Amino acid sequence: MNKELRKAVIAGNWKMNKTRPEAKALIEELIPRAAETSCEVVICVPFTNLETAVSLTEGTNIKVGAENVHFEKSGAFTGEISADMLTELGVEYVIIGHSERRQYFGETDETVNKRTKAALAAGLKPIVCVGELLDEREAGITEEVISTQVKLGFAGISAEDMKKTIIAYEPVWAIGTGKTATSAQAEEVCLFIRETLAKLYDKATADAVTIQYGGSMNPKNAAELLAQPDVDGGLIGGASLKAADFGVLLDEASK
Ligand code: PEP
Repeated sequence: MNKELRKAVIAGNWKMNKTRPEAKALIEELIPRAAETSCEVVICVPFTNLETAVSLTEGTNIKVGAENVHFEKSGAFTGEISADMLTELGVEYVIIGHSERRQYFGETDETVNKRTKAALAAGLKPIVCVGELLDEREAGITEEVISTQVKLGFAGISAEDMKKTIIAYEPVWAIGTGKTATSAQAEEVCLFIRETLAKLYDKATADAVTIQYGGSMNPKNAAELLAQPDVDGGLIGGASLKAADFGVLLDEASK
């Protein structure tokens, strides 16, 4: 309803893909393609490609994000990366609580909350993922699951910080499976998230938050999904690895 208040954000999630030369080639193809579009363009890349991505995209309309961040500032956390380490490189966004991290790496709503707070404190824009499993949808508890993820994930976060945060609604059954939520299903849950935010904060805050849909979005289904009033863009896995496909999504989000 208040879509005009929010700029659509299309964020690629490269996951564990692309060596440095491959990343360079993809970004060089993306730069002119992204320049033709007016939505916010973000590429979230593996840690090893962050420096390359930041330096190649300097002066372009492509912003760079990481795929995870630790909640502590420094210390004995082997293998982890802090928010300050990301901002130091020029990284602006970070994905938090992706379902693959929840599923394979023990991420919980509590750690999502801590990571989100650490990211915000360092000036990063978090893209926080929420979404139900297939069993949960089939059991009719989608709203309960999403509401818990939102309440716990954003506990103690101020309205001001909430407005800087992006929420990606990603039904887990639609990620990397080729099964997309229908545009009606995507809208229903994105609207539910906005209503939950309005209860937790206020309507102005809820209207200001960008809520993306993610889950097998591709050039064929993007127009319908992105046209929904509460869908403000997309978090894109597979289709972000090809400049031609990603370019179509950027065009659709710029309409
Ligand atoms: C994702 O990983 O966030 C995602 C949405 O993946 P895909 O587009 O491949 O389903």
